[in-house]
Amino acid sequence: MMDIGFRTLVCLPREDDIADLLKNLKNHFPSFNFSGTVVLNKVNYLGNTENHNMFHDMRLENRAQALYCCIFLWRSFVKEIGFVLGLKPYCKEKCVHDGSNMCDKTKLLVFSWSSFKTKVSALAMEVKKCSHLLIDRFSDISLSDDDIQNLNKLTRGISHLENQMQNCDITHSNVERIFGLGSGLGFDLEGIGFYITELNETRMNCLGLIEIVVNSIELPQLNDRKEFEEFCIKHSRTIICTPACSSQLHDLKLDSIDILLVDDAGQIRESDMLMPLSFSPRHIVMLGDHLHIQPMVKSEVCQDAGFGSSLFQRLSHIYSQKKILCKQYMINPSISQFMNEHFYEGRLEDGWIVKSDGYNNLLKKFPSYTYGFFDISAVDELREKGNFFVESAAVMGLLQSLCKGLTNDTGKINVGMVCLSYSKMDEMQNFLGIKYENHERINVEVSSLDNLSQKWYDVVILSSVFDDKSELPEGNKINVALTKSRHCLWIIGEAVKLGASGDTWQKLIANAKERRCCAKLNSKVLAKVMRQSEAYHQDRDRSTAANSALPKNIMQKDFTWTLSLSNLKSQYEHTVAGEFASEETKERGKRRLETALDILKDHGVIGHHKVEFEVKN
Ligand SMILES: [Zn+2]
Repeated sequence: MMDIGFRTLVCLPREDDIADLLKNLKNHFPSFNFSGTVVLNKVNYLGNTENHNMFHDMRLENRAQALYCCIFLWRSFVKEIGFVLGLKPYCKEKCVHDGSNMCDKTKLLVFSWSSFKTKVSALAMEVKKCSHLLIDRFSDISLSDDDIQNLNKLTRGISHLENQMQNCDITHSNVERIFGLGSGLGFDLEGIGFYITELNETRMNCLGLIEIVVNSIELPQLNDRKEFEEFCIKHSRTIICTPACSSQLHDLKLDSIDILLVDDAGQIRESDMLMPLSFSPRHIVMLGDHLHIQPMVKSEVCQDAGFGSSLFQRLSHIYSQKKILCKQYMINPSISQFMNEHFYEGRLEDGWIVKSDGYNNLLKKFPSYTYGFFDISAVDELREKGNFFVESAAVMGLLQSLCKGLTNDTGKINVGMVCLSYSKMDEMQNFLGIKYENHERINVEVSSLDNLSQKWYDVVILSSVFDDKSELPEGNKINVALTKSRHCLWIIGEAVKLGASGDTWQKLIANAKERRCCAKLNSKVLAKVMRQSEAYHQDRDRSTAANSALPKNIMQKDFTWTLSLSNLKSQYEHTVAGEFASEETKERGKRRLETALDILKDHGVIGHHKVEFEVKN
């Protein structure tokens, strides 16, 4: 569709998606017209160098920069090389120069073969670069076939000249004579090698071509950066951006957009689609999953007002004619089974890739389920030491057995540890941090259900252990949580409590039991890992006790962590009390710093919320 000359505007929900799209296009459609594509967002792609450079060039500002080079620099470089090849800067009088660089009579340079060579080579490089750019950018726009032919002839001629200049037999005086600059009398062609005659012919040939291209090629008159950018956009077949960035197109009086292509349309708020839709595209194609992530809206007022819905969602409700894709190519069939039955009414088929041996080879040696529910309700410590203690031990147990099954040739496995809330995420991050931060076999990323959007993992450990702090997800959010892993999905939870809390969870557990993917953990199974993690929890309890001066509920708020100076000052005055004035002057600064740091060591940094504390109870 993109190759048949339609102007397409591609909208994606997030900036990160743009780099992913480009990468996928490059891998799967190498013939895609990348030179006719412009990206409006400032994507900072951090991939390999080749991709990075290619995608970097596609950014609007870089496209405009390249255009500037084409239009201004090309002309000036071509004129300059013409000037040098035409020997304009050199004195042509038959005067005696006595070794000086400048001629007294004409104030022009005195010809020297070596400096001529350096100058021509330097300019040749620029002329060739700009000419290639010009052909690349303007071949469809304002260059005739003749123009392109002449440009190619010129760059070939210049290369030829460069080669001929490398000949070591060429001497200064010979060149001077054939160029007609020498002080000698007339020409004596007999004494000059034929290669020098050829060199001069190439030079004259290039001069002729320069005159032709400079006079025949007409480039657009563009005056400032905005005009350059407009020109780039107007002459691009494909424009890629996020909906917000598409506003840049608004001032351009773009004649038409043939196709508006919206990917992950279910994640874009309706209001954000207004801008791309305002270009009155002739066709609109939306792709998305109405059962997956919905647009993010933080404010409850907006949420209630329906701000968090997508156009995609609305259309899929009111419009009966929709194309439903029924194949998935990302998830191991044993993981997709439940979500397919429960969310997609069994319509989803597993693509050949996920069914192939190659796809599942990665974790074949692994001695556990590809899909499993790990029930911790029977663990005695659950009541004595709290659910995080047991939950974290179960996570560690799973990670340990995963590492055991891995060999060096498996490569590094990406593990996603998904928690229900941000506070759980922080706790888990602290717990796993030290041990798994730089692990050689696995790469563990702890995330919360709310920031999962575009992430994929090889293995996902989903903790469904909930309490008053973390709410259990409902509806689509469960689907999101269950569809983030390619190869293994392990769910940790309390089966009975979970089953009582919602229809979907109940079905999930029943399904796992039926498929014999449900493992009951008990104190005995977890004994070893619980012993190992004991030390961490003791440390943590101690530090929590130290913090008990702060009302407990404050801890869950989003804080701005600032150094409380007023508090430090009073602490300081308290500590040094009597001797405050008696400090030795020269020692004062050093001692004050030491005392202050000691206070900080004891009390830590105190966080203050910008707004007043809201203490419940
Ligand atoms: Zn002179």
